[in-house]
Amino acid sequence: MLPRKVKETAEWKRDSGEFSVITVPAAIISLKTFARIQKDAEKILGAEGAAVLLYEAGKDAGKTWISRFHGEWELKGRDFITAAEEFYAELGWGKFSIDIEHHAICIENSFIARGYGKGEAKKPVCHFLCGYNASLITELINTPVDVEERKCMAKGDRYCEFFAVTP
Ligand SMILES: [Zn+2]
Repeated sequence: MLPRKVKETAEWKRDSGEFSVITVPAAIISLKTFARIQKDAEKILGAEGAAVLLYEAGKDAGKTWISRFHGEWELKGRDFITAAEEFYAELGWGKFSIDIEHHAICIENSFIARGYGKGEAKKPVCHFLCGYNASLITELINTPVDVEERKCMAKGDRYCEFFAVTP
């Protein structure tokens, strides 16, 4: 069974240069580095192209991991949602509030918006999380959805807000 406590399972192997959390191999990168990669992708691929790339990457990551968490944490309904909110907060991805009734997710302090810089963008920038949230809502309501980010801290909103839309 996959554990879900990030702090308790963080494991450093300094001799081999490896790191893992919840038994999953991982690496730590700064928010600025992630934002830098995204900003360069926007220059090379255009804003639209970069948005699609990051959205699809997030959706794929979400599809793989959320169904594993759902299966292996052995939690259902509200208990699973609370565990997921705690898990992403521990990862430093932001403070998630999942409103499953309205197929909506709010994130305060999204790691992407924080890296990008508050009020730096004219449009929402959290494309990876947007795709990830599409997989999260898809798993929770058992119906395929896409997700749109309508509010974003990077464009000056207090938090980022994601809504499911019919694909
Ligand atoms: Zn955002």
